[in-house]
Amino acid sequence: MKNSNRNGIELILGTMRCGKTAELLRRIAVQRNFAHHDVLVVKPADDTKSGTGVITSRYEKGEQQMPAIEIDSQNPWEIYDILEREEQRLNKRVDAIAIDEGQFVKDLFPLAGSLLENGYDLLIAGLDLDFRGLPFGDMLKLQWFISAYGGSVTQCVSYCQCGAQAFFSQRLDENGDPAPYDSPIIMPGESYRPRCRKCFVLPGRPHLW
Ligand SMILES: [Zn+2]
Repeated sequence: MKNSNRNGIELILGTMRCGKTAELLRRIAVQRNFAHHDVLVVKPADDTKSGTGVITSRYEKGEQQMPAIEIDSQNPWEIYDILEREEQRLNKRVDAIAIDEGQFVKDLFPLAGSLLENGYDLLIAGLDLDFRGLPFGDMLKLQWFISAYGGSVTQCVSYCQCGAQAFFSQRLDENGDPAPYDSPIIMPGESYRPRCRKCFVLPGRPHLW
């Protein structure tokens, strides 16, 4: 059964530290408080930034948290089992599904299409580009669904140390130096800074980008 008040897919994209999670939390709260929607909140289990079972925004000085059900990023289709349990508990359909750190979720494009086709609205936040400046997971592909199901894309704005708008997430090693293109997936002591096109540094990159 499809909800006649469908909102489609709301995408929240941007670099590290641009307030994506804060914006996601705000929209979940608005949907719950004003639209009285049941919103299932999930996140990939390998998001270690937020802590277990919660999504956390550290935007600006305040810290905000919201409980989230963890899904296996390699098998996100288990979301249907979670939905079934949640809908039995509520004795009604869930209206919307919110996913944080969507860039880590395998098969996010077909999963999003399946959930939209089954009548669920989606709110998905994530990084558009990885530290190499390349598309991260399926996040950028999801914009295609807006034309088919409605919705919106919000590019969260962050600023570089020089004051220009930042488009890249600069990865720094434990010494604060730019991490090279071929650096390992896990780097102890790594950190990220938003950077503009001019200030973004990527030693050893094979492409001009
Ligand atoms: Zn800059």
